[in-house]
Formats: sequence, structure tokens, C-alpha cells
Amino acid sequence: MAAERLDGQVASGALIRELRDEVAGLGFVPRLDFVRVGDDPASAYYVRSKERLAAKVGVASRTHVLPEGTAEDSVMALVAGLNADTEVDGILVQLPLAGIDEKVVLDAIDPAKDVDGLHPTNVGRLWSGRDALVPATPLGIMALCDHYGIDPEGTNVVIVGRSNLVGKPLAALFLGRNATVTVAHSRTRDLAEVTRRADILVAAVGKARFVRPEMVRPGAVVFDVGVTREDGVVVGDVDPAVSEVASWLTPMPGGTGLMTVAMVIANTVTAAKRRRWLA
Ligand code: NAP
Repeated sequence: MAAERLDGQVASGALIRELRDEVAGLGFVPRLDFVRVGDDPASAYYVRSKERLAAKVGVASRTHVLPEGTAEDSVMALVAGLNADTEVDGILVQLPLAGIDEKVVLDAIDPAKDVDGLHPTNVGRLWSGRDALVPATPLGIMALCDHYGIDPEGTNVVIVGRSNLVGKPLAALFLGRNATVTVAHSRTRDLAEVTRRADILVAAVGKARFVRPEMVRPGAVVFDVGVTREDGVVVGDVDPAVSEVASWLTPMPGGTGLMTVAMVIANTVTAAKRRRWLA
């Protein structure tokens, strides 16, 4: 029997409606500024989809596109200006940054406006159980769990991938929900033996159809994060045949990606409220 869909369209749709209502009642218009360097088509696409959703929920956005070859100093000056601009609630520097040291730029963003949750202050706050701005993809996975009534408490969670953007913050969120968390990566020995222990399995690797049915415990809940393009078609990290083994599975596309976009906007609203009401 095929797994049930953890449908990002449905869950993000509900979230977007809530956000639209919330923004309408705020009494101010939150603003999100994007910074992009170079002409990477995937980056341009991701920024456009976030801009479109921002407009839909009533969040103002601006995109600053710097040409390929822009010096680090110029990017830093732009970020400093956005930090100082009291109208700006969220700053999202779209990666990759075309040859510029990403860490230097990310560390320069005001943590209160860091809607990607990658500033070390937000990372530390997340791991120490304080209020933090948290990366959108892990937040989206938790929101999918909540939408479909999947309670991580006491479960074995295995996350394949240990990036700062997905694997590590997701581990912190699942720990915070009392799951037992294993984070696997390219040096993990006997990966299939590890993944087969998962009640909840997350694939954030970036390799098409990497998770095969024999790597999945029957009845597991499986989240597919990876995005690979093959001849213009988007392919996930999870082999579609896993649907015959899992109890729940995110579709690709239509799963975690839609949640990510919604959570960036949710983070902007959170940042705006904290900044404007607590200031
Ligand atoms: P990343 O920084 O490249 O991390 C990939 C992770 O996979 C690394 O930790 C790597 O291990 C691990 N890995 C690679 N080969 C492996 C193997 N053979 N066995 C086990 N682990 C292996 O990527 P990322 O930024 O986390 O993104 C992962 C994927 O998700 C990409 O396809 C990206 O496009 C996609 N993505 C999707 C969304 C969404 O909203 N759906 C959001 C963000 C990213 P090491 O650390 O040992 O190298």
C-alpha cells in the first residue's frame, strides 16, 4: 500500500492563510529584504518564489541584486545599511554568494533580522533552548509533523545530512520535541543499518533517489528534502518506491520545499513582531 502524503501544498496553504490574517491585524507592514549576488538561476528562482509569497500574505519585500564579481566590502556595506534601516525586519542573503566568504557575510547580519537563522547567535540560542530565528526548512518539517499529527516524542529520528541549513538545526528541533536523534553523513558506516532504525527518516543529502526502499523501516515516516534537477525535472533524495514501505512520505515536488518558503515568511513576521513590539 502506498504511503500517505505529507502534503506541503495543504499544510503550507493553512499556514499562509494564518499568516495573512495575522499580518492584516498587525497594524504595520513587515518588510523582508533579499540580497543576491550573481546570476545563478536557481537562486533567482528561490528568491522570486519567496517574494511572491511575501506579497500574498502582505509582507513587503525588496531584492538587492549585485553583479557577479562584486567585492565582499560592497556586500558588507549593503548588509550594514539593511541592519541600520529601521523599516527592514528581515534580511535574507541567498546562497551561494558567487565567490564571497559566506560566513563573513552571514555573521554580519543583525541576529534579530536573520530570517534564515544562520547567525551564530541564533544557532546558539536554538541549541540552548531559547527563542531563536530557526532555518526555514527544519521549521517546515516540524510544521508538517504537527499538521499531520505526527508526534516525535520518544521516536528514533535519523537525519541523513549535517548541513547548517538543514541537518543540524533539525536535530536540535527534534531533540527539543523529545525524540532520540541520530545525524548521519558521508562518513557514516553502514548507513542502511542506521536508517532502518528510524521511525522518522529525513533525507537531506542532495543525491537523486539516494534513499532506497531497503534502507527504510516498514511504517516509517519519511521526509524528502533533497532537490536535484535531472533534465529540467526535480528529483528528490528518496526513491519513489519508498512509498511502498513508508507510512507517510513527502511528495517531491510539493512537500518540504513549499513549507520552506512559507517558513521564511513566517520567520519575517516573527522577527518583525519581536523587533517592533519589544524594541
Ligand atoms: P549540503 O550542505 O551539501 O549537505 C549534504 C549532506 O549530505 C552533508 O552532510 C553530506 O555529508 C551528506 N552526504 C553526502 N553524501 C552522502 C552519502 N553518500 N551518505 C550519507 N550522507 C551523505 O546540502 P544541504 O544544504 O543540507 O541540502 C541538501 C539537499 O537539500 C540539497 O539537494 C538541497 O538543494 C536541498 N534543499 C532543499 C530544501 C527544501 O526546502 N526542500 C532546502 C534546503 C536544501 P558530509 O557532511 O559528510 O559531507
